[in-house]
Amino acid sequence: MPKEPGKGLGIGELAKGLGVTLENLFRKPFTVQYPEEKLEMFPRFRGLHILTRHEDGLERCVGCELCAVACPADAIFVKAAENDPDHPTSHGERYAERYEINMLRCIFCGMCEEACPEDAIYLEKDYELSDYDRDAFIYTKEELLVPEEKSGYLPAR
Ligand code: SF4
Ligand code: SF4
Repeated sequence: MPKEPGKGLGIGELAKGLGVTLENLFRKPFTVQYPEEKLEMFPRFRGLHILTRHEDGLERCVGCELCAVACPADAIFVKAAENDPDHPTSHGERYAERYEINMLRCIFCGMCEEACPEDAIYLEKDYELSDYDRDAFIYTKEELLVPEEKSGYLPAR
């Protein structure tokens, strides 16, 4: 026979409820003091892109536009230019004179990374992408290219 509501709530149930309270009272809280503290992202997390450099500092991107063709969201714009043989920017015949990603379009699928024959573009762990200005979501080559101190750096996959 089903119990009437409110009946049969005895000392056992009360002790059980208090037990749950006590258990959580001494549990280490999971609190992250963002933005001072940040969570480490999972290895396969895809955040903001980077453009990488060879060990000698030259840009890996050769402006082939394969990433732009592969992008299902039409988020990438590449304008290639011929390298100056005396002062090359990349090891190829051409380099990306302009490279832009519209992060409002990007769906973080990683197809650009897959399509690149030069290991020039990677989706990294940076997830702080909010802004108030729509134009700020168009990331330029200057913003995406890693600094010279990170020449030769390739993210682990
Ligand atoms: S991650 Fe996907 S959607 Fe974003 S730029 Fe690359 S290919 Fe385009
Ligand atoms: S990032 Fe890679 S695929 Fe895209 S233009 Fe540069 S070399 Fe080509």
